[in-house]
Amino acid sequence: MDDFLSQLPNIDHTDIRLFAAAVNASSNGVVITDNLLPDQPIIYCNQAFEKLTGYRRNEIIGHNCRFLQSDDRNQEQRKSIREAIDQGEHCQVEIRNYKKSGEMFWNELMISPVKDHAGTVTHFIGIQNDITRRKTAESELAKEKEHLEERVVERTQDLQESEAYLASIVETIRESLVVLDEHIKVLSVNEHFCKFFKLKDSEIIGRELFSLGDNGQWDIPELKDLLLNILPHNNPFEGFELENEFPKIGRKLLVLNARQVILKGKYQDRILLAIEDITERREIEQRKEDFISIASHEMKTPLTSIKGNIQLLERRAQRNNDAAYLEGFGKTAKSIARLERLIYDLLDVSKIQSGNIEFHYTTFNFDQLVAEAVSGVQVTTQTHHLVISGAAGTEVSADYGRLEQVLINLLSNAVKYSPNGDRVKIHVSKVSNYVKVAITDAGVGIHQRDQKRIFERFYRAEKITEKFPGVGIGLYVSSQIIKEHKGTLWVESEEGKGSVFNFTIPINLNK
Ligand code: ADP
Repeated sequence: MDDFLSQLPNIDHTDIRLFAAAVNASSNGVVITDNLLPDQPIIYCNQAFEKLTGYRRNEIIGHNCRFLQSDDRNQEQRKSIREAIDQGEHCQVEIRNYKKSGEMFWNELMISPVKDHAGTVTHFIGIQNDITRRKTAESELAKEKEHLEERVVERTQDLQESEAYLASIVETIRESLVVLDEHIKVLSVNEHFCKFFKLKDSEIIGRELFSLGDNGQWDIPELKDLLLNILPHNNPFEGFELENEFPKIGRKLLVLNARQVILKGKYQDRILLAIEDITERREIEQRKEDFISIASHEMKTPLTSIKGNIQLLERRAQRNNDAAYLEGFGKTAKSIARLERLIYDLLDVSKIQSGNIEFHYTTFNFDQLVAEAVSGVQVTTQTHHLVISGAAGTEVSADYGRLEQVLINLLSNAVKYSPNGDRVKIHVSKVSNYVKVAITDAGVGIHQRDQKRIFERFYRAEKITEKFPGVGIGLYVSSQIIKEHKGTLWVESEEGKGSVFNFTIPINLNK
């Protein structure tokens, strides 16, 4: 430093020493280069510069500053420094520099020209500041930001995709969907709704559902109650049938299901209403019902006539003692009886469906009814013994014929579905003010899955359909008869082990 000070003759050396001490104590690296000497060598560096770069003073003085660049010479910032030096101007850059150890550091470099009286740039003062930490933090932040932006783009894309996916499901669905707010105002509908009701968005959106249509088609107090009940009590509903004349599309039978949209946040007070048009399906079902009813009625008359004629011929064969004919007529009579039972069952199904089934109540001895039904079925089988145990020991008020029909159905099933069995047990009892019958077979049994469904019309357990003849109406009719008697009919069964069909009816219906 002293060499340097001696080059500045007109300045008070005490002041200069103070300045020099201050510069030396600065935590920023300071260098001074001589601009008039070839290759602008460094003529001064402070301690902080030594510390910053790891070079000792003797390795610094006399060198051009570029040694700090190591091999990293293609940085843009170098151009700015070059230009500032050429123009004799101030400049500030952030540049990658390298310590003696080879370690890179970000240098915030400020250079300022020092001019003499004539305005010639004699020196440059360079102030350096290690900003590596800040730069690293900045670059990490930038990376994080970039990563975040990428994630936002990805998430947005995901959301857009799933929204499009959901929208495509909603639009493809062959049901009308309506989203309602808490005041039952329509917020949105799917395309199917507009197409089906032949309405435009503008005629629907924002309107109260009950005010849609021109004739109050939707203004149904029961539906209103149901819909208004959904949000306060989270009370969804299913299968609400609505039959009405709708403008532009005519009479329709609709099934409505509705529930609250289960989402937290801004969509939670919404109701999703799905509307299915079952007009055609119901018509087809009705045609099927009508067909069954008409066909069984039409079959009844010729069958009665065939039955009469066969009985006549059978009597004649009896008189003539014609064994071969008698056997033939016997078999024919059995087939006729089966056909007759089927026709009557089918007729019963139609009657139940239309609510026209009639019951004739009388009072009779229940045990006697069971005994008669059992002996009626016993004669139809040579393989099985039908064994009665217990007794009700009481009279009941019921429809004798209908209860006999139930017993015959259950007993015939017990025989039919136990081809390897030889016994069907019938237990009769009185339980409180009910009579109970339990019919046990050791047959094929019924899978758990089928146990509830076998009481439905035309339902037959999956596995047995090919093996055993039948149409699946006996249990349906029986359960309806028992229901009419205010009793219950149920089954307990294990597949492969057999079944127990039980029913109870009150001894006195009116009590
Ligand atoms: P069907 O015997 O003509 O099929 P049902 O209505 O009497 O009609 O019976 C319905 C179905 O219930 C039968 O197809 C059969 O799968 C099942 N089922 C009824 N009774 C028995 C039984 N005793 N054991 C096993 N399965 C039975």
